[in-house]
Amino acid sequence: MMKKVLLHICCGICAVYCIEKLRQESFQVGGLFFNPNIHPYPEYSKRKQAVEKVAETSGIMLEPSSYPIFDWLKIHQAYAAEKEGGLRCSSCYRMRLEQARLVAAEKDYDYFTTTLTVSPHKNSELIFEIGKDIGGDKFLALDFKKNDGFKKTLQAAKTLELYRQDYCGCIYSRK
Ligand code: SF4
Repeated sequence: MMKKVLLHICCGICAVYCIEKLRQESFQVGGLFFNPNIHPYPEYSKRKQAVEKVAETSGIMLEPSSYPIFDWLKIHQAYAAEKEGGLRCSSCYRMRLEQARLVAAEKDYDYFTTTLTVSPHKNSELIFEIGKDIGGDKFLALDFKKNDGFKKTLQAAKTLELYRQDYCGCIYSRK
């Protein structure tokens, strides 16, 4: 029987290649767009729509999600001065992966993982450390940026004419 993996999705662009890659590895894929870091709401909405388009074209189901931006801000305002890649980002990855772990457990997925590792701006080793800490063996430590993953996902996203953002997501990265 195919193993089920819940893919935490940060945006449509990053999702395209990751879904394809997981399917090549014989996983049944479900998606979760849980990103309370994204500010402001219109930006969140644009990214969500792009993810819905990818889900539709690739035929994956998206799990219901929420947008607790005030909870995110409450936790992360303490890290406002951090540089990208620092403590604020570690906490931001943790919050999103924690939700993916919860949904994966509730919906009987065998594993969970994240599109975050496809970006060359994200430290995959740090994401693996956090994912393993949260989910142990349930976290699939896949480095999607390997084998030109980022280049491939950009190409596929261009074909689908997906919205492409120009900042990571939070109010601090927007500044
Ligand atoms: S820069 Fe990106 S990863 Fe870091 S806290 Fe902001 S949204 Fe999260």
